[in-house]
Amino acid sequence: MTGADRAEGCLRVAVAAPLPGLFDYLPPQPLPRRPMESGVRVLVPFGRGRRVGMIVGVGVQTTLPPERLKPIAALLDEQPLLGAQDLRFLLWSAEYYRCNPGEALFGALPARLRRPRPLVQTTLPGWRLTPDADRLRAEALRRAPRQAQVLALLRGAGAAVDTASLRARLGDCAAALKALQAKGLIARCQIQSGWDDAAGVDALEDGAAGVAMEAALALNAEQQAALSAVEEGDGFRCFLLDGVTGSGKTEVYLHLIASTLARGGQVMVLVPEIGLTPQLQRRFAERVRVPMAVLHSSLGEREREIAWRRAAGGVARLLLGTRSAVFTPMPDLGLIIVDEEHDLSFKQQDGCRYSARDLAVRRGQQARCPVLLGSATPSLETLQNARQGRYRHLILSRRAGAARDPRILVADIRAQPLESGICHALMQRMHVEVEAGNQVLLFLNRRGFSPVLTCHDCGWISECPNCDARLTLHRAHNRLLCHHCGLSRPLPSHCPYCEGPDLRPLGQGTERVEDALRQSFPGIPLARIDRDSTRRRGELERLLAAARRGELPILLGTQMLAKGHHLPGITLVGILDLDQGLYGSDFRAAERMAQLLVQVAGRAGRAQRPGTVLLQTRHPRHPLLERLLRAGYPAFAAAALEERRAAALPPFSHQALLRADSPTERAAMDFLGQALELARPLAGRDIALWGPAPAAMERRAGRIRAQLLAQAPARARLQGLLSRWLPLVRALPAPGDLRWGVDVDPQEGL
Ligand code: ADP
Ligand code: ZN
Ligand code: ZN
Repeated sequence: MTGADRAEGCLRVAVAAPLPGLFDYLPPQPLPRRPMESGVRVLVPFGRGRRVGMIVGVGVQTTLPPERLKPIAALLDEQPLLGAQDLRFLLWSAEYYRCNPGEALFGALPARLRRPRPLVQTTLPGWRLTPDADRLRAEALRRAPRQAQVLALLRGAGAAVDTASLRARLGDCAAALKALQAKGLIARCQIQSGWDDAAGVDALEDGAAGVAMEAALALNAEQQAALSAVEEGDGFRCFLLDGVTGSGKTEVYLHLIASTLARGGQVMVLVPEIGLTPQLQRRFAERVRVPMAVLHSSLGEREREIAWRRAAGGVARLLLGTRSAVFTPMPDLGLIIVDEEHDLSFKQQDGCRYSARDLAVRRGQQARCPVLLGSATPSLETLQNARQGRYRHLILSRRAGAARDPRILVADIRAQPLESGICHALMQRMHVEVEAGNQVLLFLNRRGFSPVLTCHDCGWISECPNCDARLTLHRAHNRLLCHHCGLSRPLPSHCPYCEGPDLRPLGQGTERVEDALRQSFPGIPLARIDRDSTRRRGELERLLAAARRGELPILLGTQMLAKGHHLPGITLVGILDLDQGLYGSDFRAAERMAQLLVQVAGRAGRAQRPGTVLLQTRHPRHPLLERLLRAGYPAFAAAALEERRAAALPPFSHQALLRADSPTERAAMDFLGQALELARPLAGRDIALWGPAPAAMERRAGRIRAQLLAQAPARARLQGLLSRWLPLVRALPAPGDLRWGVDVDPQEGL
């Protein structure tokens, strides 16, 4: 073999290391009998040690000189863990968001697969239904309840089930199995149990065997039109399902899910936060009888791995998950739904800063399946895509069923005394509704007791020593907490500055409003729903369930309550304070405020009873607020888009943010200053470079933060710049304690 021949037969490997690029290796020595395939994990020599990696290319031609090429140390898997399409998607994502490909790829795998240990494929003996079982009449097994049980369980699982799991569920059922086999209704099979343990029992948990299915609702004309539009297409197409809260978007999802499943496709549903998954999961499980998998951040490693494997193995047909679920392999993917597509939580805010919503569209393109983005308050990006015809715009303009749109009233609180943040008019209305047996929801996006503690004698205020931020008073723990760096201090009894005894909480947080409400409404059950009160697993679900049953006349909460929850009994929504959004520095502040207001307002009057929303504000004449209240979200969005167009801001341009932070101000600014000099000659005339400038919160967790913004008229121009620029930035000399990263399509801090 000559050197040149050898160089052609290289393997390209994504190595799990914080370095850009892919690495080429020679095949292992001696050559293993099984073929080397993409998607197989390997152990490779790397630096002075060894790392786990994954083959992403076979038979590649390398540019490395032969003497630098090393052979792979070992193949870890007998079969690929990821298919060609999954690999392509993950590598594309890493490239677009400028992340290290190996890190991105292994970050998308269950934790166990990131370790350099081989997995042994095992099989388990099990049972599957035969085609005859499908043709069986329902009453045929009336005399044989054990056999009927087995059959129902296999049907519910939607896949083969291993014998041990059957026994775990039904007890000893050998006789029933034998009888069913003799009738030709079931057959023995070997189940790929995956990697060295059984997932069979878990696969049954949500099979919903024996649960009576809810019937599908008859769709109204708009819902039907939306459904047909998606169903009549073939292959990839992106749709915006733009429907006011309660207009029946979820109902449209359910119909689409059912028809996709019936055609043999898998469905991926992405939701903003875990808070929404249990409710949606239940609604799905009541309607579609297929094995489902759920993926979100509060799962343990093992649960996460099982869900991943079931989706990747094609066992789970419906995957419901948050942001990171977008990377889950699904061999038969036939439909992707992104619910509440405008939500900020689809954007990862550290490490690889991807947008799961945008990646979902890319994924649908690769898998040639439809993608449905749903929202009552679509993001301006998505609306612009719809206007340009890239996405098809489907509108549900009215609430489904009997519910009517809520009435929005504005309370000017400039000249009014507030009682713990609540004005007189709101308090009165609350009493009326509660006495009438209705439900009230109060919204305040600030947790804790009060956002700051002050000294009445000297004017001292509680500030975080590490951040440009104030410490929030949390009464429940008697502590001052920083919501930005996590600093926690005991509540001082005297002013740390003048030692005066008169320390006063200033302003309202949810804890304080809760206290006030308990006094104004003695004996009335109420729940505060925020991150603090729902820390315990299952607590949010428990509170929401009680609210749905009508057991909680008063609900008080943050952002967490604004989203998607269907609470039919609410007739009054009070919004205590949204004013920060009106004058935020971020160019998206107004869009966010409008979305939040509409989403919160949408919680009112979702069933038969009409709803009222009372908005407290000190800026009743603010033009954006007036337009929103007078003409609604679509008119607001249209005007906001015009402003963005005039200012050439996204979606009319594309941005990337280079962020840096360091313990000292100079280091971050200096580094970005040098990066700017490198970018200038590459940028050309159409790419604007802004900064470097201090970040909106300049000091955070003891680090000084700065940023440099690049803005281009087209995505391709921006990506072109990044390709040439970032390698130069990486080569810049920088102090060891400086951190930097790039954020493509940034959503925050602008
Ligand atoms: P969204 O997801 O847009 O907020 P949902 O799908 O949750 O709306 O529907 C809101 C309410 O209206 C639900 O109680 C749902 O059962 C009901 N609903 C939806 N579609 C219909 C329909 N076609 N006929 C009657 N009720 C419907
Ligand atoms: Zn003082
Ligand atoms: Zn802090």
